[in-house]
Amino acid sequence: MKIPFVDLHAQYLTIKQEIDGAIAEVIAESAYIRGRHVDAFEQAWANALGVKHCVSCANGTDAVYIALRGLHVKPGDEVIAPAHSWISTSETVTQAGGRVVFCDADEETFTIDPEDIQRKITPATVGIIPVHLYGQPADMDAIMAIAKRHNLWVIEDCGQAHLARYKGQYVGTFGTAATFSFYPGKNLGAYGDAGCVVTNDDRLADWITTFARHGGKGDHLMEGINSRMDGLQAAILNAKLPHLPAWTEARRYVAACYDELLDEVGDIITPKIGPGRDHVYHLYVIRTENRDALREYLTQAGVSTVLNYPKALPFYSAYAHFGHSPKDFPVACFNQSRILSLPIYPEMKKEMITHTVESIGSFFKQFQEPDGATLKVIQFASLADL
Ligand SMILES: *Cc1c(COP(=O)(O)O)cnc(C)c1O
Repeated sequence: MKIPFVDLHAQYLTIKQEIDGAIAEVIAESAYIRGRHVDAFEQAWANALGVKHCVSCANGTDAVYIALRGLHVKPGDEVIAPAHSWISTSETVTQAGGRVVFCDADEETFTIDPEDIQRKITPATVGIIPVHLYGQPADMDAIMAIAKRHNLWVIEDCGQAHLARYKGQYVGTFGTAATFSFYPGKNLGAYGDAGCVVTNDDRLADWITTFARHGGKGDHLMEGINSRMDGLQAAILNAKLPHLPAWTEARRYVAACYDELLDEVGDIITPKIGPGRDHVYHLYVIRTENRDALREYLTQAGVSTVLNYPKALPFYSAYAHFGHSPKDFPVACFNQSRILSLPIYPEMKKEMITHTVESIGSFFKQFQEPDGATLKVIQFASLADL
């Protein structure tokens, strides 16, 4: 049995008529760039979250960049971002002219550690970009309290957290602005690149709309960039949006099966949920000392897995100039060599979940003593060797 990591075609087949119809409409109208499908999606997504403005753009990375420009980051400004995330969160800070300051992850939830944020604040700090990593909200009460105390803006990077909630409130509605990616594999995914910024701030919405569209039509009020959502992507997102709550429930079901079936299997740590967080399981990330061997074993068993992400950002070549060492980010460092993302998507069938879990179980059985009792855990490199 082959278990792909995600299966976008399986999802397409469940809504083929709606998607085909939406695509045909765009082509019939030649509504390729912006146009009514884009307007409709901006409205629908703003309504879904309960925010005033949704400004669509070309992708989720542009969304972060556009939001940063809208908040007028200038050279010398320090922006706090998580050490363990996708690089969009930090590369855009540099592109906008700021200096990224990395913070470690919280031990339980993989999201940014508010205590480390507090430690990293200097007179040059202007803002914080929490990421709701893997689909679990960051600790927004703590983060917003720090932001308020130090007069900082907050951009929530919601690239993995469509419809996730913190204490009942949708992520993307806490900060000054929030960004979404609709990359095909995301919980709400287009059939190409797409993204948006959401905000309740009228002036910010106005500025970023102008900036992302060449600085305005007619009179160019400034030099901007060209970052647009195209009509096909918007029409596809409009067709998919009504299904998102059910797809989210389906992801939670897969996660609940994994939680239950992987409990006490080998040395696996299943995802921990922080208080008040509604996780939407963009990714289901386990931790084990036996990660690399398990991953190899699962590949042989036909189960695809991914490492999100194999290194914390400060340890990539792009950030070598910061000269960070593992002890600067002990949790991110601990996690990077132990995390493993298991297949999770709404169309996953029960037997696929079972096959994945059974394969993991038989991997760990290899290490069981003949009496069946104790488990020999493979000794892992200590923190110092990382
Ligand atoms: C996917 C993602 C992005 C970037 O989105 P793209 O649409 O691929 O540019 C940004 N941040 C996070 C956390 C993401 O997961």
